[in-house]
Amino acid sequence: MSERVDVLRLGYRRGRDPRITTHLALVARALGADGFLLAGDDDQEMFDNLNSVSTRFGGELDTEHVSGLGHLKKHVENGGVAVHLTMYGEPFRQAIPKIRRDRPLIIVVGGAKVPGDVYKICQHNVAVGNQPHSEVAALALFMDAWFGESGSERSFKDARLVIEGVNGGKLVHDNEDE
Ligand code: SAM
Repeated sequence: MSERVDVLRLGYRRGRDPRITTHLALVARALGADGFLLAGDDDQEMFDNLNSVSTRFGGELDTEHVSGLGHLKKHVENGGVAVHLTMYGEPFRQAIPKIRRDRPLIIVVGGAKVPGDVYKICQHNVAVGNQPHSEVAALALFMDAWFGESGSERSFKDARLVIEGVNGGKLVHDNEDE
């Protein structure tokens, strides 16, 4: 059995960040995470939207509002691994083979301002290119490299809607109709 993977989004601002943060959570879900953790403002409405995606497309994404640095510290103290995605970090393809896979993993993405302590608490500071870009892109590329095909090609249990990928048109099986 593989160890648990959560994505932690730091510094969430309910007024400004819902769209990009929803995209982060959807990438986390689609590419293989077990949970999405939000630090900063709480947002039950966003969690409800994410749960409704899982109700339709299957699987389970645990969602939780957490304390941020406190949660991260406890995770590491309890033996977990924390990977902070940052443009200042070590190139991700070089870093991944050094990251232990036998412990629960938290992948941390920052918000507008990342506290300096995050760099110290996380065992790995990892870059997806050393240029500033998007947390969504960084997360997707890192998770794809971490999970390989088992991430994006995994099946989601209890899905009502299952998409069969085709070259042309949309092929969606609705298990409620069958
Ligand atoms: N200015 C912020 C800071 O203090 O670091 C960064 C803002 S950036 C838009 C938001 C997040 O995207 C970062 O915290 C990081 O998690 C992610 N990110 C952006 N570029 C990245 C890169 N090249 N590699 C890895 N992560 C990146």
